[in-house]
Amino acid sequence: MAERSLYETAVEQFNKAVKIMDLEPDLADVLRRPKRCLIVEFPVVMDDGHIEVFTGFRVQHNIARGPAKGGIRYHPDTNLDEVKALAFWMTWKTAVMNLPYGGGKGGIKVDPKKLSKRELERLSRRYFSEIQIIIGPHNDIPAPDVNTNADIMAWYMDTYSMNVGYTALGVVTGKPVDLGGSRGREEATGRGVKVCAGLAMRTLGIDTSKATVAVQGFGNVGRFSALLIAKELGSKIVAVSDSKGGIYDPEGIDVEAIIEHKKTQGTVVTYPKGQKITNEELLELDVDVLVPAALENAIHAGNVDNIRAKAIVEGANGPTTPEADEVLFKKGILVVPDILANAGGVTVSYFEWVQDLQAFFWKVDQIRAALEEMMTKAYEDVMKIKEKYNIDMRTAAYILAIDRVAYATRKRGIYP
Ligand code: GLU
Repeated sequence: MAERSLYETAVEQFNKAVKIMDLEPDLADVLRRPKRCLIVEFPVVMDDGHIEVFTGFRVQHNIARGPAKGGIRYHPDTNLDEVKALAFWMTWKTAVMNLPYGGGKGGIKVDPKKLSKRELERLSRRYFSEIQIIIGPHNDIPAPDVNTNADIMAWYMDTYSMNVGYTALGVVTGKPVDLGGSRGREEATGRGVKVCAGLAMRTLGIDTSKATVAVQGFGNVGRFSALLIAKELGSKIVAVSDSKGGIYDPEGIDVEAIIEHKKTQGTVVTYPKGQKITNEELLELDVDVLVPAALENAIHAGNVDNIRAKAIVEGANGPTTPEADEVLFKKGILVVPDILANAGGVTVSYFEWVQDLQAFFWKVDQIRAALEEMMTKAYEDVMKIKEKYNIDMRTAAYILAIDRVAYATRKRGIYP
């Protein structure tokens, strides 16, 4: 079998939903394709004076319901196909949450850990200038993703603002709180994962205060997921990992302490308590809830038979392949899909954008309450569809989302 790309994998999920919904084939064809794909090759002067050329991408998959929205990642494996898949997922994610957005995503093929701070700034500013022809507070609003953060968002915002001649806070989200950012944005994806983990356990009749949880990935999403699940649901975090490996402790890990450890040591694997495990072993632990919060394709045909969790809450984008999905569904493992489970980030990005446009900022309690309410509503909406058709939650979430984008497309009509 020819190797299938990530975008093709994503489209497979979509096609499965389309079959059940009986969507017009012409419309399905419109919805599955990206609207715009921009590739930029751009030079950056490195600290030693030599010039390096980098490749960057920005894809706007769909803008039928509003501006494109989605993060930008820096990773050595980033490529157009991956960014297309991620932009595609953003379209369905914003629609599941009923946000007035479409879907977009960007990326630069780079290992940011190898750059100095000044090089990272020059790279970020030049990239943003290059993609600016399709970016703007009403066109396409980027945000953080893998290996990008609030500091980089501040450079993006400044670069755009310098180019247009006024300060445009609403052009990116995930900015520092004191520079047009939103309270509660940094923790937002993790908070959404926590809400979904709590709801999934309720669905399965698991007592959250007695539950065990393993979290793969310790970036922004994994860190806050582990912290909030422990603190607010009272569950025991028995394993966490990063790209270098993981730590397992059946007695429970002190999440605050391991966050501190990662901050100073750069990894969780040297944490003195518990035992070292690999990322593969973490995924196969006998836990109540597994949160894959690293990269794509973590759960696949090769390891799905060994998965023992009762629920999987997808903090990452695309962590489960369609083949693995089939097996998990047959085994009765509840999978809360990425386009719902990790939508907390883009939801608080939406709050941030609204605050920027109104130049009026909310309290953190308001943000948290609004986020939890919207996540709960979306979870319940998806559950209703799941029960109606007796399907997995991913396909149910797609049905909900596709229905909304299809409605917008039909109602607007095909121009001209
Ligand atoms: N990168 C995040 C995601 O995959 C957040 C996107 C946003 O806030 O626009 O959902």
